[in-house]
Order: sequence, then structure tokens, then C-alpha cells
Amino acid sequence: PGPIADLVGADITTALDGSGRSVRYVNLDYAASAPALSAVAAEIAEALPQYASVHRGAGYLSQLTTDRYEKARVSVRRFIRARADDHVIFTRNTTDAINLLAGATPGDTVVLDIEHHANLLPWKRSGARVVACRPTLAETITALSEELQRSPAALLAVTGASNVTGEVLPLTTLADIAHSAGARILVDAAQLAPHRALNMVSHGIDYLVFSGHKLYAPFGCGVLAGRGDWLDAAAPYLAGGGATLDVRGSDAASDDGSDTGVQWATGPARHEAGTPNVLGAVAIAAACEAVTELGHERIGLHEHALRCRLDAGLDSISGVEPLSIWSDTSDRVGIAAFTVTGRTPRAVAEFLNDSHGIGVRDGRFCAHPLLNHLGHPEGAVRVSFGLGTGADDIDRLLYALRELTATASEGSR
Ligand code: PMP
Repeated sequence: PGPIADLVGADITTALDGSGRSVRYVNLDYAASAPALSAVAAEIAEALPQYASVHRGAGYLSQLTTDRYEKARVSVRRFIRARADDHVIFTRNTTDAINLLAGATPGDTVVLDIEHHANLLPWKRSGARVVACRPTLAETITALSEELQRSPAALLAVTGASNVTGEVLPLTTLADIAHSAGARILVDAAQLAPHRALNMVSHGIDYLVFSGHKLYAPFGCGVLAGRGDWLDAAAPYLAGGGATLDVRGSDAASDDGSDTGVQWATGPARHEAGTPNVLGAVAIAAACEAVTELGHERIGLHEHALRCRLDAGLDSISGVEPLSIWSDTSDRVGIAAFTVTGRTPRAVAEFLNDSHGIGVRDGRFCAHPLLNHLGHPEGAVRVSFGLGTGADDIDRLLYALRELTATASEGSR
């Protein structure tokens, strides 16, 4: 298959091929930040010349901007199939969204040690019980369930798909084990949202977070969606304008600096103090609409074909060792990690970029416990793809890896 969507900057060329020829750059680093869809860029270009502050003015532009911002919330709500009474809060990114929820969670959180640091460190600060992942997914689910049953927890926080191996977690099953232990579930959908249909209702997801910049929109805006009671009971994430209903002056000031005399808003406004990133929200909404219009069936077929091509290719190259967390699942989004015998991950990534114009990621992917668990504390190479990727991009990667491993084995003879 070729690409199935137009992406901004998808066809830049570099002169980085080993023989000095100019080659089309192949971006295989979508899991870090995916390039913006052209439809998203068009929506931003339309909104950019006409903005004013939201929620504060009677002026035409202020009303227009408020309308765009609130419509963006509706688009996001539809995209993730949130319940009618869920709060949909715009944040800076996934990390911000999880930190916000961590401040609102009334009790312990159970997490796996495979998580991105964004879904691990906020919980470690506030009562995390970290469960070590097991060799199979089935055993891992049992271990999580036992931990949840062992003593009461408020929340199970899990990723929807690993940002290292792309392995997808069974969300309905995980929601069931959380609920049957009296806990709620948070799904970190940073890596799932660009690839799979999300449905908070049918999966039984209480809280969901994701970032615009991995969903074909630019940086600076993310989402926290979910049940309102914890969020309305929590202290506002930031203190400031827009998060209050009423504030009294010096007559109500308290000596200890607490919030005496402040009546905080409920709903999304409670946690969105300050002027929000309206263009970021507009961009996320445009991405949600564009992805929905392409259709998850088509996206699924496209990515599955690329995934099969990639897996078959990696498996066929001796000296390339693909990483997986579990032996009993093959459900993966467009993310794969591997190591190359005799080469550091950085050397592989540099070779791919410098000699073939292919951009990949190397390192530990903000998931140090997982890389330790996989036996690669020194890191790995990660390739990741999406709507703008074609079969020829995967073939170019495989060709380059064959060249690299052939030279490695010649060198070792
Ligand atoms: N969770 C996962 C699974 C991720 O892959 C990432 C980004 N690498 C994050 C959270 C953090 O996202 P952000 O940097 O946008 O906050």
C-alpha cells in the first residue's frame, strides 16, 4: 500500500544517501510525533487570522473563538465516544493530563512496569503499586487482578499500546478486572488514538488521555476525558482566571494562603485556568474529524499490511532482534523496536539517517523499567509509522538494515 492521507512535509528530500544522491526522507518516527495532516493544517490556517480570547468577551471574534473551542470539545467527545456527562478537558499533552488526574485520584493507583514514564512517575508520587509484567499477557492480567483484589485501589492506570513494541492491551478485560475490584481505569491512549477506534463506553474506560502531536496535529494540546466526580472534587489544577465562579477580596483573605473566599467552577473550566490553547484544540478536533472520515477500517487495513511487511522483513534479517513484551499476543499498532547485533542503537539510527535518509528513534523511549525488563538497559531502535507511510518506506528500511547487517557480518569474518 501507499500512503492513505496527505501529511504536511511528507515529501521533503535530503541529500543524505551514502553516495551523495538526493533521496526522499522517510519518517519512521510517528510514535514520537506524527506529521500534521493537511486537513489539520488547513483548519489551523482558517482559524489563525481570526482569534480572540475565549469565554471572556461579547465581541464577534471572541464569540467565534469560544465557539471554535467548544466545538473542538464536542469533536473530541465524539471521537472517543465519551459518556454524555464525562468531562473533556484540554491539557498541554498526555503527561499534563495524567498529572492532572493524579492530583484528583482519591487513593492508590495500580500500574504495570511497562509504562511510559508519563504514566508511571505521576503515580509513583502519589501512591503507586507497581506490578511487574510477566512473560505472557494472560499471566500479567492475572497479576494485575490479584494486586487490585489484594487491597483496595482507586485506579488501574494502563497504556492502550506500548510506545516501545506497539503491543496492544485488552482494554475491556482490564476495565472489567478494575471494576470488579471496585477501582476505576485510566487508559493512556497516546499511542492507541492514532491507530485504533476509541470507545470509552463500550470498553468501560473511566478516564482516557492522549496528545494531539501523536494524532497528526501539532504540539501543545492534549486531552483528559472522564468521570466528573473526582475532577470536580479535586483542587483546581492551576489557580487563576477562568477556573472560578466568584472571588472575594481582602475581607475573605485567609492567613494560611488557602482558598477562602474563592468559589471554584466545576466542569472542564475548573482545570483550565488561564487562556487556553485554542488553536491546539482546533487542530486536535480537525485531526479527530479527518481520522474518522478516513475510517478506522481503512486505517486498520493499511497499517496491518505495513505491519506484516515490517515484521516479516525484520524476522528475515539475521542480526536483527525484534523486541516483544509478551509471547501470547500479536496485536500491535505501527511501532516496532529491535536491536542489531554488534551495533549500538545510536549507531544504527545514525546509519539509517546518514546513509539512507530514514529517520527512526533510538534510546530507552522514556520507558526505562520496560527496557530493563526486556534485557536491553542500553536501549534499542524503534521504528513507527502511520497514515503517510507506504510499503516502499518499509522496504527502504529493510534494504538499509540488510546492507548494515551484511557489512557487520563481513566485518566480523
Ligand atoms: N504515554 C505514551 C504511551 C507515550 O508514548 C507518550 C509519548 N512518547 C506519552 C505518554 C507522553 O506524551 P506527551 O509527551 O505528549 O505528554
